[in-house]
Amino acid sequence: MAKKKLKDLKVNFNTSWEYAPAPESKDHVKINDRYDLFINGKFTAPQSGKYFDTINPATEKKIAEIADASAEDVNMAVVAARKAYDNVWSKLPAKERGKYIYRIARIIQERAREFAVIESMDGGKPIRESRDVDVPLAAAHFFYYAGWADKLDYAAPGKKVRPLGVAGQIIPWNFPLLMAAWKIAPAIAAGNTVVLKPAETTSLTALKLAEVIRDSGLPDGVVNIVTGAGVTGAAIVNHPDINKIAFTGSTEVGKIIQRSIAGTNKKYTLELGGKAANIIFEDAAIDQAVEGIVNGIFFNQGHVCCAGSRLFVQESIAETVIRKLKDRMETLIVGDPLDKNTDIGAINSKDQLNKIKQYIKIGMNEGGTCYQSSCAIPTKGYFHRPTLFTNVSQSSRVVQEEIFGPVLAVQTFRTVEEVIEKANNIPYGLSGGVWTDKGSKIFKVTSQLRAGVVWANTYNKFDPTSPFGGYKESGVGREGGLHGVMPYVKIEN
Ligand code: ADP
Repeated sequence: MAKKKLKDLKVNFNTSWEYAPAPESKDHVKINDRYDLFINGKFTAPQSGKYFDTINPATEKKIAEIADASAEDVNMAVVAARKAYDNVWSKLPAKERGKYIYRIARIIQERAREFAVIESMDGGKPIRESRDVDVPLAAAHFFYYAGWADKLDYAAPGKKVRPLGVAGQIIPWNFPLLMAAWKIAPAIAAGNTVVLKPAETTSLTALKLAEVIRDSGLPDGVVNIVTGAGVTGAAIVNHPDINKIAFTGSTEVGKIIQRSIAGTNKKYTLELGGKAANIIFEDAAIDQAVEGIVNGIFFNQGHVCCAGSRLFVQESIAETVIRKLKDRMETLIVGDPLDKNTDIGAINSKDQLNKIKQYIKIGMNEGGTCYQSSCAIPTKGYFHRPTLFTNVSQSSRVVQEEIFGPVLAVQTFRTVEEVIEKANNIPYGLSGGVWTDKGSKIFKVTSQLRAGVVWANTYNKFDPTSPFGGYKESGVGREGGLHGVMPYVKIEN
């Protein structure tokens, strides 16, 4: 009797999960009206005098104007980086290089709140994410690679580890500060100098990082930050005096870059798209797995190249898992990125929101069943409800293509062999997840999934010591750990 009553009890999630607003204060944050390029240790106006707006995707309001760097500006940055490399940075004892990098890490920690708020305002991600993940991890990468600066010769016993020269680095909008840290820290620890370009919708924290770099006393020209869109990126890629290109972004642009530098002496690493499989076996701890799936695709708006956007559920538990997922989706809070209760913030740009909406239409036209949480979303700004597709096939575009939004495609499987086959049947291979109580299944799946990172009974966990990167169209090379510094050095006898 008591059992029946409990079962019949319907929870109205919409009213039972109302939280009072808890917005993070913006009072301590200083944002200029206009930002120039950071070249040779100074903020410098662009040659063309052109600026573009960076807007807050949660309010659609302009935050600041950002300099649009031309090929001429990029050239000035490369000249400064070459001069700093030849005259100062490559000559400095490695332990001295390390000291500057530790200092950068410490200043980021001191200014962590400011960085977190600006990251959420400019990019739309929830403050919980920028405060607890992006900013601490960015500082951790500088700390970690500072430690490597004077130990690199031990990584290649009996040989000499030498820098390459000037690195051109191009990063996307999903983790603006963290991607800058992933790129800059190993490059300068190994003795290279840098010209970095953030994505055009999220330049602010890279420019704030430029202030930190200036305040750290890093010699002029060691790190230069130029802002702009694809044309500026192409000017970096095609500059003849750059020795290495490090790119994170779409597979499409990655291919353009690969073609542009074919036949040159430039080294390159590319971290591109993904379409990760999250696999739940019937013996998994289901509630934890559901939470991991939600974390893997919905938190951070699905703006993660390693997002677990394909879910494979073993047939016997499919109904339960999908029901629990839907229940959990109803409790997710979509809204103000600066509110500490928010789970899903703003989609980074109008273009990206339109792309996600387009995929929802494609999924429905292909015969998929679409479920969206009924949560309220703000009327202003770029927001999207968490969305789940069932009844999709392996060939559906929502299963095969990277959407980069809070959209999960669910498929079922019966055997380990079947799920490995399905999970690998995709052009990408960046990451994956497996949920099971059996260690043997973890070993089997992780050793056969063609993906650079596979999490077991967890998802989206990062550490500076751990290498990250893809198979197939997900990229070339690794970032993080000792693996992440190797693409910035040559090893000589
Ligand atoms: P996303 O789809 O994540 O926006 P993109 O590949 O378009 O990824 O952008 C990632 C980065 O690459 C951004 O900094 C962008 O300005 C830059 N970019 C875009 N087109 C080019 C190009 N042709 N050459 C170099 N960089 C580019």
